[in-house]
Amino acid sequence: MRSAGVIGWPVAHSRSPLIHRFWLAKLGIDGDYGRFPVHPDGLRDALRALPALGLAGVNVTVPHKVAALAHLDRVDPAAARVGAVNTVVVADGALVGHNTDVDGVIEALAGIDRSAGRTVVLGAGGAARAVVAAVHQGVRGRDAGDVRGRRGEVLVLNRDPTRGAAVLADLGTAGTTGPLDTPLPADTVLLVNATSLGMTGAPPLAIDLTPLPPTATVFDLVYAPLETPLLATARARGLRTVDGLAMLIGQAAAAFARFYGAAAPREHDAELRALLVAPTSTKPLV
Ligand code: NAP
Repeated sequence: MRSAGVIGWPVAHSRSPLIHRFWLAKLGIDGDYGRFPVHPDGLRDALRALPALGLAGVNVTVPHKVAALAHLDRVDPAAARVGAVNTVVVADGALVGHNTDVDGVIEALAGIDRSAGRTVVLGAGGAARAVVAAVHQGVRGRDAGDVRGRRGEVLVLNRDPTRGAAVLADLGTAGTTGPLDTPLPADTVLLVNATSLGMTGAPPLAIDLTPLPPTATVFDLVYAPLETPLLATARARGLRTVDGLAMLIGQAAAAFARFYGAAAPREHDAELRALLVAPTSTKPLV
């Protein structure tokens, strides 16, 4: 049996077990995926114990995504650029860190041509870093082929703009920054909400979409609720929208392949999405 899991503090809310077990069952793989509450003081011991426990790896969630880096043997380049890992794989007894949130963003943005204008990223936390890293390396979709090189300009808007500037500097991405209430530029081709605003229990995201051209796409990383006010407004204006489950499922699929050595059976996405938005699944998933 091949087993993996998720470590976090707390971790009871994580829906990653639902996703991975769903795929394991669909593929008939003799495997499991557990939930491991790990206090920050125990992070190093928990990670170093993975090989002895016979685990294939773990997903890493709040608050360990940055701290875990210090306890790994190797970190892949995308995760190193982002400065955070969300997946640790045991490879020949060594701990290797990855950031499949970047894969999730790349998948969610497949087929969206950003070359004609600006990509505006709201937020400067871990999720925003994954978005900027994905945009920086070019968008390569599962089915869309290689569209590397489609790099429009990036504008990062954050409550604390100095954090936005740090994201661009750390990732080596050319772009500009400003406060969150900066009016959206008229040449915006893609608007991404990577703040926690609009999430159940968080304040709403107050933003005026009027300046956006009709060709713009709006991507909200928030998935609880799935239909955020931002996406509802964008849709009412006839704009293309991408919801948070696209990234959530995409990042899980990239981790699943590393844990179990098999591609996630994505032909069942509709059934999985229905499970994830069921009333018992409204809490944050990762
Ligand atoms: P984080 O590191 O804590 O960053 C939170 C961001 O939200 C920061 O930019 C912060 O601004 C901003 N923010 C928080 N409260 C705010 C407020 N009251 N007013 C203005 N800005 C505020 O969190 P994260 O891990 O990046 O996650 C951000 C969002 O992405 C969450 O909703 C999370 O659920 C979602 N997410 C989704 C996926 C997915 O697969 N769909 C994956 C990861 C994350 P400051 O820098 O000024 O504090």
